[in-house]
Parts: sequence; structure tokens; C-alpha cells
Amino acid sequence: MPIEQFYRGIDTPWQDDASCKGKNADLFNGQASSAEDIMAAKAICLECAVREECLEYALYYNKKSGIWGRKTPEERAMIRQQRTIAEQSMKIVFGDG
Ligand code: SF4
Repeated sequence: MPIEQFYRGIDTPWQDDASCKGKNADLFNGQASSAEDIMAAKAICLECAVREECLEYALYYNKKSGIWGRKTPEERAMIRQQRTIAEQSMKIVFGDG
């Protein structure tokens, strides 16, 4: 499945510059989950010019599967957890105001 179908219907202009565009989307959409497939997807992501946008999109929309921004679902969950801890720490130090 091409990446264009994977993203179909979503307003994501940054996808035009995605390194995975036209590649096998099964590497990215959670269908293929072997270590080799994850490594292959991450290798493509490594050269991607929109990796930050992709990761932030997945974090914002809480994507539960697939590789986004060179991160697995478990890695994204860890990022979300770290950000939550950082936000709570800032509130403790500086207050809610
Ligand atoms: S970071 Fe990876 S999954 Fe995201 S657009 Fe780039 S190549 Fe595709």
C-alpha cells in the first residue's frame, strides 16, 4: 500500500516531502512488525526531511501503531510520558499561572 493511501483524507502537507512516499507503507503502518521491518522503516526515516513534523503529528493524534517520525509506538509512549512528567515538574516549580 503506498503511503498516499496510508495518509488519505488527512490534511498533512508535510507528507509531500516524506521519504516514505511511494515506499511500501506496510513497513510504517504496523502491518509489518519484525525487527528487520522496523529497522528498514527507521533507515528510510533517518533521511527524511519531515521527521519532526511526522513525529509531532503522531504524538498530537496519539497514533497507537506504526512507525512515525522514526519512533515505534512504545518509543512514542515514552516520549509522551516524559513530556507529561516535564509539564508536571514545570507546574510544581512555576505554578499553573
Ligand atoms: S519520518 Fe518516516 S514515517 Fe514519517 S514521513 Fe518521514 S519517512 Fe515517513
